[in-house]
This record gives sequence, structure tokens and C-alpha cells, in this order.
Amino acid sequence: MSKAIDLNNLPYADGDFYSFEHLLSDAERARLQEVRDFLTKEVRPIAVDCWNRADFPMEIIPKLAELDVVSPVRRQGYSNVFAGMVHAEFTRADASIATFVGVHDGLFTGSVEELASEEQKAAWLPDIYSLKKIGAFGLTEPLGGSDVAGGTRTTAQRDGDNWILNGAKRWIGNATFSDWVLIFARDVADNQVKGFLLDTKTEGYAATKIENKISLRTVQNADITLTNVVVPDEFKLAGANSFRDTNKVLKVTRLGVAWQAVGQQLAAFDVARRYAVERQQFGRPLASFQLVQDQLVQILGNAVSSMGMMVRLAQLEDEGVAKDEQSTLAKAFTTARMRESVALGRSILGGNGIVTDYEMAKIFADAEAIYSYEGTHEVNTLVTGRAITGISAIV
Ligand SMILES: Cc1cc2nc3c(=O)[nH]c(=O)nc-3n(C[C@H](O)[C@H](O)[C@H](O)COP(=O)(O)OP(=O)(O)OC[C@H]3O[C@@H](n4cnc5c(N)ncnc54)[C@H](O)[C@@H]3O)c2cc1C
Repeated sequence: MSKAIDLNNLPYADGDFYSFEHLLSDAERARLQEVRDFLTKEVRPIAVDCWNRADFPMEIIPKLAELDVVSPVRRQGYSNVFAGMVHAEFTRADASIATFVGVHDGLFTGSVEELASEEQKAAWLPDIYSLKKIGAFGLTEPLGGSDVAGGTRTTAQRDGDNWILNGAKRWIGNATFSDWVLIFARDVADNQVKGFLLDTKTEGYAATKIENKISLRTVQNADITLTNVVVPDEFKLAGANSFRDTNKVLKVTRLGVAWQAVGQQLAAFDVARRYAVERQQFGRPLASFQLVQDQLVQILGNAVSSMGMMVRLAQLEDEGVAKDEQSTLAKAFTTARMRESVALGRSILGGNGIVTDYEMAKIFADAEAIYSYEGTHEVNTLVTGRAITGISAIV
């Protein structure tokens, strides 16, 4: 019999193999630990049950408000490296709660911060930052996915001081319960995609939960219909006048999704390593078998190489010089590594890897949505390919 191993006292118990956290300031490291403690206490213990029931834990919202997590870079002055590590930690605890935060903070708040006028920001941001108003981001449509930039079918028609919106949106996260949703619609006058802040209580707006998902089940994704929805002109985002404007937001949020791929791999590593050390077969821990160690090391290598890429990209972001194709490569690369890592993790758990009770099945399944949203793996690859060849292979 081998003696019991105390995982918490193993080297690299936190998975930070190359001490990336040492790049943070002392204040940032202390704050990261505060977030980690919150996630350990409030998120990870409820995550599997919520996922199984496909139910969002509304009680987490006031707790997140108290933790004060919205807009760490623009509002709170933290670095992008810190913000990325925090987002990875959220994902490591639960990819669905991370996605809730990613939608409200990255896509929704990021759009308001980037594209609203100063007057609009002053009116809206306080409630957005404090999570009194929850937001959603409505871009994708039933018929417009990867090609939504040119393929937005939802229309906006100016009518005096108002706009009239008609159309449909699909996959919109948080939209079954959000107070506000940003709707991107094509102005019939100039054919440009513009952004509108819509109160979800407005007549003509309907959101239906998408059921039967196999990934990110806790996230409430909606099909939205818009039937002659009236939006006053002061709720049109002043700076959202073409898809190029929308893309300014997506460039940043794509980084957030790549950080999710880091967190997802750390989650797979945490769960697989613990299982491999604790589970015995042939009278020995699984971790004593060379092939199992090889799989654990592959997960670790994938996770830390993804982390290294993201840390450098976040530094470029902090310097204000990160390019679109650098974030598309990061999203494509880290999510591909993630898919390998979660499959290896699932394999290490054997049969227990396909029941959510052991977390790994949830981690494995959630990776699929991360792989496909915010620009699929293929589309991000093609945007990068266009940058390095000067030739577009997208259409
Ligand atoms: C869980 C989840 C949450 C989401 N949340 C939101 C949200 O909050 N707001 C929002 O607006 N959207 C959201 N989305 C939508 C998401 O961004 C889209 O699913 C994504 O952009 C892909 O679009 P699609 O699903 O229509 O796939 P499609 O565009 O139909 O693509 C299908 C397949 O074809 C491939 N493909 C398409 N075009 C090309 C090409 N030119 N070359 C090669 N391959 C190609 C794709 O890579 C993919 O493999 C979410 C999606 C999911 C799954």
C-alpha cells in the first residue's frame, strides 16, 4: 500500500507551474486570492447541481455584487493580466458562472463603456457596475452566426425620436432574466449595424430559454423575438454605428474566452490529478502508472502554454498594442489545447468521467461551447490566416 499523498502540500498545488502570478502586483495577488476564496466557498460547491438542473442560481448575483467584480480594468484600474487571471479562476470554479460574468461584464458592460456617449454612460453604468441591472448581448441570429457581420437580418427603422426593431436573435446568454439587452440591428436607411439598449420589459420583446443543451447548462441562453419594438433614440448607443464598432468589443471579449480556455484546463488538471492520486487500481494509485502521468503532464503542458500566451497577450493589451489577429490566434490555439486537455482529463477518470458527480464530465462538456462561441475555432483560425497571408479564406 502506498502512503496517502497530501495534494495541498505537493509542489505546484495551485497549478501555476511557471509562477505567472508573480507578474501581478501585491495588491492584485491579494485580490486574486480573495476572488479564489469566494469561488471555493460560493460557486464550486453548487456548480454541478445547477448544471444538472440547467438552473441559474439567482442568489449568486447579490454575492457577486458584494465581491464587486464588474469592470476590473476600466473602472478599478487593474491590469489586463490580473483581469484575465481572475476570469480563468472563475472558469476553473465553473464555466457557466464565468460565462454569466463574461456576458454581463465583457460583452454588455464592455459595449456600453466602449460605445455609449458620456451622458449614456453616466446614466447607465452605476447600476450596471453594481449588478442592479443585469445585461445581455444580442448579436447572433437564427440565420446569422459566423457571418453575422454581413448577415444581420434584424432591422432598425428610424421613426421620429424612436427606432422600431424587428427580427430574431439566438443564443443570447442571460437574456431570460436580464433587465437590459443590447440588440444589434441593421439600419434600413444606411444598411449599417447599430446597437440599441433595450429594456426587456418593452412590448414586443420575447425571450424563450433554449432547452436541452449539453454544454454550459447553467447559462440561460435565449431565443429572442422582436416585434415592432419601440426604442427611444437616447437608447441607441452613440458610438455603435457599424459592425466595425461592434468588433472593437469582440476583440477584447475574445481574449476573455481564451482565458476561459486556460481556466477550463486548470479545472481539468485539478480534478484529474486529485483523482489519479486518490484512485487505486492494481493496488496502486492511478498516478503511479506511467501512461497516466503522461496524460497529466500533457494537460499541464497545454494549460501552462495557453497561460503563457494569454499573459503575454494581456501585457500587449495593457500596453495598448494588442492586435485583432493576436486575439483570434489566442482563441483558436487555447481552445484547441483545451479540447485535448479535457478529453485527457475525462479519460483519467475512466467511467466516472462521464457522470457529472465527479465534475470532470461538466468540465468536458462545457469546453464544447467555449470552443464555438465568440467566433468558432475555424473562424478565428481564418482571421489569423488572413493576417499572415494577406488572403482571406473566409468566403
Ligand atoms: C453557449 C453559447 C452562448 C452564446 N452566447 C451568445 C451571446 O450571449 N450573444 C450572442 O450574440 N451570441 C452568443 N452565442 C453565439 C455564438 O457566438 C455562435 O454560436 C458562434 O458565433 C457560431 O455561430 P453558429 O452557431 O451560428 O455557427 P455557424 O456559423 O452556423 O457555423 C457552423 C460551423 O461552420 C463553420 N463555419 C462557418 N463559416 C465558415 C467558414 N467561412 N469557413 C470555415 N468554417 C466555417 C463554423 O466554424 C462551425 O464549425 C452563444 C453560443 C453558444 C453556443
